[in-house]
Amino acid sequence: MRFVLATGNRHKAKEFGAILAPCRIDVMPAGVELPPEGVESFAENALGKAEALARAVEGDPALLRELGLAADDHVLFLADDSGLEVEALGWAPGVTSARYAGVDGPGADVANFTRLLRELAGFAGPIARRARFVCSVVAVAPDMTHYAATGYWWGAIAEAPRGEGGFGYDPVFVPEGSDLSVAEWPQEAKDQASHRALAGRTLVDVLRREGLLHEVQEA
Ligand code: IMP
Repeated sequence: MRFVLATGNRHKAKEFGAILAPCRIDVMPAGVELPPEGVESFAENALGKAEALARAVEGDPALLRELGLAADDHVLFLADDSGLEVEALGWAPGVTSARYAGVDGPGADVANFTRLLRELAGFAGPIARRARFVCSVVAVAPDMTHYAATGYWWGAIAEAPRGEGGFGYDPVFVPEGSDLSVAEWPQEAKDQASHRALAGRTLVDVLRREGLLHEVQEA
């Protein structure tokens, strides 16, 4: 089985590569247009991206050639959408996590968690500051059948940012059972426990049950 991932983000490709090993994962060819993310649900956003990629590649012999795909190759088009949900904020920022502070580019992560800490001023302790990372993953077959899974990683929002690792909200997210923020965790530990890892492993189970995947080792 081969996978084509609906992202240009090599960080995500590496994480999914580890989960789906030894299957080959390619990132989508440059120039494929993905739909903008909506505000309804992570699962819908992931499905929209995976379907758009499947339609673009299956309808274009040049893209099939670029990916080195033959007509009889088994391929699945993969996409994900993820974000942070905070109970005290009515599960915001949710699907708008990436642009919570309205800032794009290199300063976005710090602006986003700074706004989050401001919104949570007055909420004390891990119960009042309960939160979860969410990741939905969808795989779409060339006949447009789709398979989906969602992973949650529960924890609490810290009082202040800590640590240098990771990205996004990692410096302010303290997983359940840990005293450290994710930005203080080794990357390999995050890759085992995260919402993305959980969603990816659940999707592998679904694909295996459907008889589509034999190659991937049990987690
Ligand atoms: P997307 O899945 O690329 O749309 O990511 C949405 C946003 O959610 C990211 O820009 C981050 O702000 C946040 N996010 C998703 N996963 C993580 C994570 O593992 N750590 C920290 N922030 C994350």
